[in-house]
Amino acid sequence: MGTGRSLALASMNPTFSLARLATPNKRQQVRVGIGNHSWIPAWCRWWLLFGGTVCFCLTLARSVCCAGFIFVNKGQPMAEIVVGEPSALPISFAGQELQRYLKEMSGAELPIVNAPSKKPAIVLVSRSSDLDKQALEDPREEDHYRLSIAKKNVRIEGASPRAVLFGVYDILERLGCGWCVPGDEVVPKRATIELAPLRVDARPAFQYRMMLDFHMLTVAQTIAISDWIAKNRMNWVRECPNAHGEPKAWYDRRDRIVPELKKRGLHLIVGGHTMHTWLPETLFDSHPEWFAYDGGARKPPTLCVSNPEMTTQLIQNMEQFLGRCPEVDVIDLWHTDSEVFCRCAKCLRGIAIEGAKEKPPADAVQSAYVISYIEFVNRVAGAIAKSHPKVMIGPLIYSQTDRAMPDGCPAPADNVLLGLAHFHRDSYRPLVGEPKSTINLRFLGNDLTWIAKSKHSYIYEYYNCWVAPYVYPGAQVIVRDLQTLESLQVQGVSSDMYGYSPVNMYVAARALWAPNISWKEAVREFCLRYYGDVGEEMAENELQLETGIFGLNGYQASGARDPEKWSPPPAAGLYLQRQRPEQIKLLNGMIARTRDPQVKARLERALKPWSLWNKEPRFWAFPEFKDSNE
Ligand SMILES: [Zn+2]
Repeated sequence: MGTGRSLALASMNPTFSLARLATPNKRQQVRVGIGNHSWIPAWCRWWLLFGGTVCFCLTLARSVCCAGFIFVNKGQPMAEIVVGEPSALPISFAGQELQRYLKEMSGAELPIVNAPSKKPAIVLVSRSSDLDKQALEDPREEDHYRLSIAKKNVRIEGASPRAVLFGVYDILERLGCGWCVPGDEVVPKRATIELAPLRVDARPAFQYRMMLDFHMLTVAQTIAISDWIAKNRMNWVRECPNAHGEPKAWYDRRDRIVPELKKRGLHLIVGGHTMHTWLPETLFDSHPEWFAYDGGARKPPTLCVSNPEMTTQLIQNMEQFLGRCPEVDVIDLWHTDSEVFCRCAKCLRGIAIEGAKEKPPADAVQSAYVISYIEFVNRVAGAIAKSHPKVMIGPLIYSQTDRAMPDGCPAPADNVLLGLAHFHRDSYRPLVGEPKSTINLRFLGNDLTWIAKSKHSYIYEYYNCWVAPYVYPGAQVIVRDLQTLESLQVQGVSSDMYGYSPVNMYVAARALWAPNISWKEAVREFCLRYYGDVGEEMAENELQLETGIFGLNGYQASGARDPEKWSPPPAAGLYLQRQRPEQIKLLNGMIARTRDPQVKARLERALKPWSLWNKEPRFWAFPEFKDSNE
């Protein structure tokens, strides 16, 4: 479907690799840079090392005007895919993905070979990191890839096996494929597939580009999410069972999920709200002192973080989990999803005396507790550093700990990956700039106090719309924020996916790679790829919603369904409510007009949140995922 449209997109191409800077008809630029690092010396060195010369660069640059690389001609395979032997799993998988999609597009199956013959070749290679000192110093280098497309040869070179896979997805995107929504791809049909000569050198702006799978519905959905994450060049998946007691939901599916992650070279965090995972409330009867003192009594499931015996048991349980699940890179240690924290004299460091008339200010109480929490996290991290030196501990600054780093707080240990959540921010105002948001500025100010003292940290955002009716035109703010965060050298950003907002998520993935994109172009790109013959209309509509809501106060869709519960109701919620009748009319009109059944299904899904206007369609954007054994 959508062949004509896809052709147009192939030349427009993804913001990802800034292909507009490397249009085939112009003299090729050796460097299509992203970020601040110049690549010219390393690039030339690379050619010298891999059988080319600097002169070759120039010769190639001159010969680009004539013809491109032909993958398939009138349904016949014209090239072979070269994957050296032995190759890391993601490189073999990259070869298979390229073969699979070219076949789906054209019907032609390109052979995968280990050594090149005389045929035109698509060569997949990963550059050994010890060739480049920069790779050792800057973790973003791991995802650096280069594409070189000439008449007889396509070279896809990654700094790591995963980066080779990213290079393949970039090429497929240039050929018109679109990875818009998990489990619902756009693959154009073509008898002939070719690509004009091109050089791309792409590297992400952020080290941690993460998305969260909550609450792990079907295995098929989890796999589709992981697949979508890799196709959109993100590198971390957070599986979030939020378990009470051992994370059985992860045990049940890890056999099926882990191979999918390994194929794609994705990193894995497991956990979410996990105080009650590593130390379940079933232990309350035997050990009430392990749990939080709050409102005059000990009660589960929040923990008393200064209790040493509790900490010993919790570490043992975590180690047992890590022994069983060696695939885990980061293990979460978040609070319970509430506002409860332990107010015992030890956790509050003696500032509150029970029964005293004068109560200390709430701010001082929370500051004291936050110090105790970080000390607790560091104790756990210290033990895990010994038993599982490659694993990091993942605490979250959120709710109970939502504040600036207090004076006297120790720095998080080196094997801690600290998340900084922006819960209940102003969703339609940028973190910095006009119109100003006091809440957002407070979040960012707090972030910086933590980032300054943390070796590894990331911002925990909500690009998804988890507030009913799950409509959240946030692309403009997402891109502006990521530009700000890049300029502050923030290491990464994660988003929840609960209540999936397809345009936001697509735009966020692009801006996580290269924040300096046009948000309007990225929104348009999504709509043109996904909504085929009504793509232009959908793009206009999305841009209008975005422009109309930008700058209003409010969190996501709060107040859209229940303005009477707010005093005064958030302006953004009221705006969404006013758009509802027009949106229903518009979407129904397009549903009637489109001639593409796949587009019709997508529009029907997009209509759901507006028409139902309730809590039902939380994953409205997803196709239905069913597990074969269910
Ligand atoms: Zn306590």
